[in-house]
Amino acid sequence: SLSDRLTGALKDLRGKGRLSPADIDATCREIRLALLDADVALPVVRSFIAKIKERAKGHEVSGALNPAQQVVKIVNEELVGILGGETRRLTFAKTPPTVVMLAGLQGSGKTTLAGKLAKWLKDQGHTPLLVACDLQRPGAVSQLQIVGERAGAAVFAPHPGTSIGGGDNALGITAADPVEVAKAGIAEARNKQYDVVIVDTAGRLGIDAELMNQAIGIRDAVQPDETLFVLDAMIGQDAVSTAEAFRDGVGFTGVVLTKLDGDARGGAALSVREVTGQPIMFASTGEKLEDFDVFHPDRMASRILGMGDVLTLIEQAESVYDEQQAIDAAEKISSGQLTLEDFLDQMMAIRKMGPIGNLLAMMPGAGQMKEALSQVDDKQLDRVQAIIRGMTKAERDNPKIINASRRLRIANGSGVKVSEVNQLVDRFFEARKMMASMGRQMGLPGARRGQS
Ligand code: GDP
Ligand code: MG
Repeated sequence: SLSDRLTGALKDLRGKGRLSPADIDATCREIRLALLDADVALPVVRSFIAKIKERAKGHEVSGALNPAQQVVKIVNEELVGILGGETRRLTFAKTPPTVVMLAGLQGSGKTTLAGKLAKWLKDQGHTPLLVACDLQRPGAVSQLQIVGERAGAAVFAPHPGTSIGGGDNALGITAADPVEVAKAGIAEARNKQYDVVIVDTAGRLGIDAELMNQAIGIRDAVQPDETLFVLDAMIGQDAVSTAEAFRDGVGFTGVVLTKLDGDARGGAALSVREVTGQPIMFASTGEKLEDFDVFHPDRMASRILGMGDVLTLIEQAESVYDEQQAIDAAEKISSGQLTLEDFLDQMMAIRKMGPIGNLLAMMPGAGQMKEALSQVDDKQLDRVQAIIRGMTKAERDNPKIINASRRLRIANGSGVKVSEVNQLVDRFFEARKMMASMGRQMGLPGARRGQS
């Protein structure tokens, strides 16, 4: 996985001042592969990586994150930005009805989306009307009628025997002309005061001029407030050429990504956003009406990167990391002055991030370290915490004063055996000594003072 490769490529080099070109290159190489794996189009990957390198250059090294994590953080922020930052909402017409036209290849999920949108709008108090302008595919009209019924929304269709359009609609439409049906649908919405019209259209398996001309005809007849380009996330690298054809043909104001419940990593989203400049507005995640939501750029970014866990870890590390506290601790470590109070503080900060097991599961790679730490469980940490809490402030600040009688009192107070208190105090002194020498080797702040 990407996170494993990143850890392989980079050692933990926290606190070096600035990200080095080598750190940035190594991380960007892996990010590039991750983006290509996610089906982001090559030119988009290239320009994106160039942008990242530019931004990462001269970037301050944060104390909370290692260089790989920092580049990942920048990449994630850029992705979220490109994918739209805040989600754009549907534009409603000043005078109803608002007209929303759906366009896209056959099978992309337009008709299903029509039902989802209708339900979503109904839930917000709107009164949508679905208009069946796919007269190409056999069964397309009745499919929309079924979907409309499920959503509890009215459907305007050209053929007799249907819920609204049957023979007695305003224009008596029965002809198989999608442009006429579209016009009649708008008239119907005006007459019966539906406030949103969703126009379902036909699609082909590939782009062709006839299809595009029909869509253009419908567009000109209904003057949509929004034209949504419906894109199957599973089509991968074909997304760009398809989006370009629809942009240059019928044109669109927003994108809906469908079939995100599949295993597509969603690179199509980034490519289409970059190439067409139009926002992704909704996401479809299944065949049922409820499998639908406004688009969340942050979720998509982490899906494209394929490292949701790492991003969560980054967020958590940053939220609990207190720069000054860390500098103070490093100073105390190097000078051998770490107290049990500091130790307790550090432990609490780490535990704020959640159960220790979860943290370990999220840590990329780090095999041996992980194994060692996996023997530390939360119950053990609870006991250590209880013991330190049973000490007086003076004892925590200067553990040397913890003699036999104090140990007995602490053990009784915290409900553990004296041997456990002994073990904790002994280990603490050992660890403090070891950490001080490591701190000096690593050149942590305060090392000089420790040596003098
Ligand atoms: P249209 O030709 O563009 O109208 O596409 P349809 O709405 O008829 O959808 C084509 C197929 O994809 C149908 O079997 C849908 O049930 C299915 N479908 C649509 N949206 C989704 C989705 O988000 N996830 C999944 N898994 N299937 C979907
Ligand atoms: Mg359809």
